[in-house]
Amino acid sequence: MKKQTTQCDAVGLVRTILQDAVKNGASDIHFEPTAGSLVVRFRLDGSLKTIETLPKTASDTVISRLKVLGGLLTYRNDIPQEGRIENAGDWAEGAAGAVTDMRLAVFPTIYGQRAVVRLFFENAGLMELDKLGLSVAIEESLKAFAAGNQGVLLLTGPAGSGKSTTLGAMLRYILQTCPGKSIVALEDPVERGIEGVTQVQIEPHGELTFPVALRSLLRQDPEVLMLGEIRDAETAKMVIEAGLTGHLLMSTLHSGSCSGALLRLLEMGIEPYQVTSAISAILNQRLVRRLCEKCKRRDESAGRYEAVGCEACVNTGYHGRMLLAERVELDGPLRKAILQRADLETLDTLLAERGHMNLVQDGRRLIAQGLTTESELERVCGGC
Ligand SMILES: [Zn+2]
Repeated sequence: MKKQTTQCDAVGLVRTILQDAVKNGASDIHFEPTAGSLVVRFRLDGSLKTIETLPKTASDTVISRLKVLGGLLTYRNDIPQEGRIENAGDWAEGAAGAVTDMRLAVFPTIYGQRAVVRLFFENAGLMELDKLGLSVAIEESLKAFAAGNQGVLLLTGPAGSGKSTTLGAMLRYILQTCPGKSIVALEDPVERGIEGVTQVQIEPHGELTFPVALRSLLRQDPEVLMLGEIRDAETAKMVIEAGLTGHLLMSTLHSGSCSGALLRLLEMGIEPYQVTSAISAILNQRLVRRLCEKCKRRDESAGRYEAVGCEACVNTGYHGRMLLAERVELDGPLRKAILQRADLETLDTLLAERGHMNLVQDGRRLIAQGLTTESELERVCGGC
């Protein structure tokens, strides 16, 4: 007969799980009830990894313990609840990075309650421009853009592709290299404070929307503007105008490719000549996991490294992440094609003909340097 997990066991068990998650820098802990167990998984470098499979008998006491910690109603098992685990920093025993917050969300499922704890680390996503893993050519072009005083840099890629990390790195680079510039960031939400930057919290469903904030801001004489995301035609039009009137502007646009982002602007009603005159460059990026330096192994026959797994990387074989990216600058032939309203296929063919380095090719650079693997490239670029 299976031993019942007592309340006392659950306290220790939950403590160990939370501490392990903090120690290993997990961004989320999932407690997923199944027909016969409670599966504990950590999100490490963006991917979920099963850590433990607890017996079904432990399920109720473990979830109850989490609900106590999160200040939730322990007697309500039939409704979704959200809370915060107080004194998050106290769980950081032996941790490398400081935890600033832990949020708990529970949800009823047919197999019992599912819980997710989200962990917030002080330095998560805080990276210097030269530590992002970008190729020398792309890094240099970003630095050149940062040193300028007019134009629009658009970052594109799916959600979770590190766009806000790149924007943050660009802002800090500008702060370091051009001190004294007036820098304003419009964000939804503001993820972290950056000293020296005026940060504005946008309310997409309130009065302070991106277009409203941007319109007023342009009268406040900013030199550098960062906009979290271009979500609608009105914002897109204002971004283009700002870029044409002596501002350095950076933003993101949801799209799968550089050509796709350019066409999306046209679909939003921006005139081709405005796109060609305002946009300086487009950067399409993805995050790949970095091979764990402690356990990666060279496969001599294939001439590249492979993931192994050790204690340091929680047996994932990876530790940390880096960017792969492709950059498109609007030069003569590309401008001409946009002015002629070329379609996606034509733009992509034009780029390929002119030796454009795409995401997969940039990924090969990281594989050749022994920093990531073919399977990781396949995972993030399967549809590239
Ligand atoms: Zn390892």
